[in-house]
Amino acid sequence: RAKQDQRGRFVWYAQAMASETRQRLTMLHDLRAVIEGQGMQLYYQPQIELSSGQVIGVEALLRWQLPNGQFVPPDRFIPLAEYSGLIIDLGEWVFRTACLQQLEWQQLGVGALRMAVNVSLSQFRHQGFVSMVKRALTELGVSPDMIELEVTESMAMHRIDEVRTVLRQLTALGITVAIDDFGTGFSSLSYLQRLDVNRLKIDRAFVNDLGRQSERASIPEMIVKLGQSLNLKVIAEGVETPEQADHLRELGCDEVQGYLYAKPMPADDFVRWFLMLPEGRVKQG
Ligand code: C2E
Ligand code: MG
Ligand code: MG
Ligand code: MG
Repeated sequence: RAKQDQRGRFVWYAQAMASETRQRLTMLHDLRAVIEGQGMQLYYQPQIELSSGQVIGVEALLRWQLPNGQFVPPDRFIPLAEYSGLIIDLGEWVFRTACLQQLEWQQLGVGALRMAVNVSLSQFRHQGFVSMVKRALTELGVSPDMIELEVTESMAMHRIDEVRTVLRQLTALGITVAIDDFGTGFSSLSYLQRLDVNRLKIDRAFVNDLGRQSERASIPEMIVKLGQSLNLKVIAEGVETPEQADHLRELGCDEVQGYLYAKPMPADDFVRWFLMLPEGRVKQG
């Protein structure tokens, strides 16, 4: 009898779960239609390994286009989405869409490209964040090691204990973490050492100052050295000139991203751009 009871409960439980998953999928489907119908779209910008010229990944960047064709910059609408709480649903849409894109490119044989996704502070601090990430990874069947989250340095240095716990949970899932806009915050080196992160991303303001007579021109070198001593990869964003790329290569920077190679592009344009490259490599120097 007890067994029977238990089985009954199990069947009931399984049915409830299935219908919950179904509901969630339906809701996501609807959400997707709403978000995309409102002009939201992900663009992708390539990330390149400096030593080989190989495209090794992309960063997903959110775009919002108004019905009149104008784009609202993310620096304007992300803070609004954060303030209103919309960032939670929008962020889930971004994460899932980026994962699906990674999977599609991998399965269609375009390439095994690491997908970097930006996360804002209120998303990161939302109590459902880690489970959202975990659920998306398992439901979609994407390899966690092909997904990277970008959190800004100022976020990472805020409430350090909370952040450490969340970063540990995220990296335990197998995904990697990059610290975005690095050099603009005020990281304490001892904290940085204790965080589960894989990559430092040099802020583009410092890349811009490379080779100029400026006090900031030495910051990329310091970040590269820091990365080497903490065993973290270093990527530079906002690389616009061959001189900047050469400079970064000399410093020993691992990876680059910027208009010199490509601007952020819609998925189809990215694929066209990528497939034109001989063996997936950009021309160097
Ligand atoms: P970020 O993550 O630091 O992204 C880098 C920004 O630099 C992007 O601006 C990119 O288009 C731009 N960029 C890349 N290469 C160059 C270059 O060579 N020169 C110059 N001048 N700019 C370059 P974007 O797309 O306007 O995004 C701005 C910020 O908005 C991002 O900074 C990120 O913090 C936020 N953001 C974008 N998409 C998302 C998203 O899906 N979720 C969240 N939470 N934030 C996002
Ligand atoms: Mg970023
Ligand atoms: Mg950045
Ligand atoms: Mg930024």
